[in-house]
Amino acid sequence: MKFELPPLSYSPDALAPKISTETIEYHHGKHHLAYVNNLNGLIPGTPFENATLETMIMKAEGGIFNNAAQVWNHTFYFSSFSPSGKREPHGTLLRAIDAGFGSFESFRESFTKSAATLFGSGWAWLCMKPDGTLAVTQESNAGNPMRSGMVPLMTCDVWEHAYYIDYRNRRPDYIKNFWELLDWNIIGHRFDEALKK
Ligand code: MN
Repeated sequence: MKFELPPLSYSPDALAPKISTETIEYHHGKHHLAYVNNLNGLIPGTPFENATLETMIMKAEGGIFNNAAQVWNHTFYFSSFSPSGKREPHGTLLRAIDAGFGSFESFRESFTKSAATLFGSGWAWLCMKPDGTLAVTQESNAGNPMRSGMVPLMTCDVWEHAYYIDYRNRRPDYIKNFWELLDWNIIGHRFDEALKK
């Protein structure tokens, strides 16, 4: 299977200045693309030649796992934003957040801490556990919580390439602005779909 870079659902300047056009051009146009190209170069002649990204995330190791997970994680990350989305959860997801964390504000604090304290490169996640409750987790490098049987609902990329152009070393400022770009209609829809399975 030949993978392609998924296009963004918004223009490259739509998230500026919180995520600048230049960051989008590098992060989506070069980093995300490089993972796609690397994966296409790695899989021919392996058992994963015709596999889905999800199968590779669950079963591959090494370079194939790393690049497949990075392709998936970046597609998921970029598709969580919109320039004029719903900035707070509502409905079923809000009830699950209230039940799991006490309030949206407490959840935000927990997730922000997880993203800010992740040592080195990786991803902070909001996930649904097999019992339908929510969890905030950290994954290093290309990690994805699917590997632990959870359903990803939202993620923050804290690799330096995600924020260094706009924020230099100020990861906390990037995370603070990240909240103002999330579209909770999209995240809520993911949760509703996950509950149906
Ligand atoms: Mn990234």
